[in-house]
Amino acid sequence: MSLETEQINELHWLMEMLHTIDVGLVVLDRQYKIQIWNGFMENHSGLLPREVKDKELFSLFDEIPKDWFKRKAESVFLLKNKAFTIWEQRPYLFKFQNYRPITGSADYMYQNTTFIPLMSSTGLVTHLCLLIYDVTDNAINKQELEKLNGELGVLSQTDGLTKLFNRSHWEVCLQAEFKRWTRSQSPSSLVILDIDHFKNVNDTYGHTVGDDVIRHLAGLIRLHGRETDISGRYGGEEFVVLLADTPIENALIFAERLRKEVAQSIVKHNDIDLTYTISLGIAEINPSIKTYEEWIEHADTALYRSKETGRNKVSLQAKI
Ligand code: GH3
Ligand code: MG
Ligand code: MG
Repeated sequence: MSLETEQINELHWLMEMLHTIDVGLVVLDRQYKIQIWNGFMENHSGLLPREVKDKELFSLFDEIPKDWFKRKAESVFLLKNKAFTIWEQRPYLFKFQNYRPITGSADYMYQNTTFIPLMSSTGLVTHLCLLIYDVTDNAINKQELEKLNGELGVLSQTDGLTKLFNRSHWEVCLQAEFKRWTRSQSPSSLVILDIDHFKNVNDTYGHTVGDDVIRHLAGLIRLHGRETDISGRYGGEEFVVLLADTPIENALIFAERLRKEVAQSIVKHNDIDLTYTISLGIAEINPSIKTYEEWIEHADTALYRSKETGRNKVSLQAKI
């Protein structure tokens, strides 16, 4: 084989490979007219090379934002540097359908694109090559992982029985509120409540009914609270509600309303009609309280007083 034939052969193979690789390959001229359109582009767009040849890119694909694309491409032409766009910034350049069997849930093909300057023999960048990679599998995997992580994050903050915040997450919120208070000094109140004689409920009706009562109480707390209140399950049948921006007088109104509502409610379980009551304690943050744990202790002491003095009542922290 002569050298020339060999070179022609190689060129022919190269062309064949570029046509069949699983990456989109497009060459544009300075006017954004399509010069080369490989098999990947043909298969996914349904347009043959001769149908796109010498057509302006934007006239065929109106999903490509012209201004954005030109800004990117012009810097490639001028600076003779490569440029990239990844799916996280822009999910796709060409809106192609996604046919992948595994990630069939995606509506379109996610793409990463590389812009490459093509230099003429005189050193001028006369053309631009686009390489389009199908990254749908990566994108879907990453999105699913992020979704799962988000769900896990919520789960790790939530109490399974009541769907209120669990103790550890609620304490993080309390700590944040405590810090906020040290800056803003706007009033904030903490309510702790505990079901009265709950052991009797469990002993008389069983744990499942006990759980129903706990859920019922959580429902009322949610119902009576405002969006900004932060409610949590502190222990077995002990709950906490942090009322931000609320002085103790207003917290008392909330607590009394909740106490009365609980005392009037009936929890139905099969043919059992069950009533229960709660005791509550309230503490407002003040300068003598140095840590958020101390704030809880003040509210807990008030709760203890409610228990000691007859239950089904609300007590306030001792005056400072
Ligand atoms: P008091 O009025 O003094 O609060 O009396 P009490 O009987 O409610 O006493 P205490 O608060 O000490 O009792 C808590 C009980 O709550 C003990 C435990 O069996 C029960 N408990 C804790 N967690 C759960 C739970 O998740 N489900 C059920 N059903 N019971 C629970
Ligand atoms: Mg109790
Ligand atoms: Mg208790």
